[in-house]
Amino acid sequence: MSTEASFSSLPEPTSAPAAPAAPLAPGDQATPGTPGTGETVCPECGGSGRISEGSCCPNCDGTGRITVGIGGA
Ligand SMILES: [Zn+2]
Repeated sequence: MSTEASFSSLPEPTSAPAAPAAPLAPGDQATPGTPGTGETVCPECGGSGRISEGSCCPNCDGTGRITVGIGGA
């Protein structure tokens, strides 16, 4: 008598209108596409996406580019 549906109370946000979570790199200041921001070359790796032999740049997450805020802050 204790066979309650244990999976019917999970608050799964299946229909949440939230924007797709973009994988922001540590160097990103905003999500790509955000008004007032722009993509620029990562200053840490110079756009190569690597800081050393085979090491992925942690600042841009290996993309070589980061999204930063432009204009006055
Ligand atoms: Zn980088």
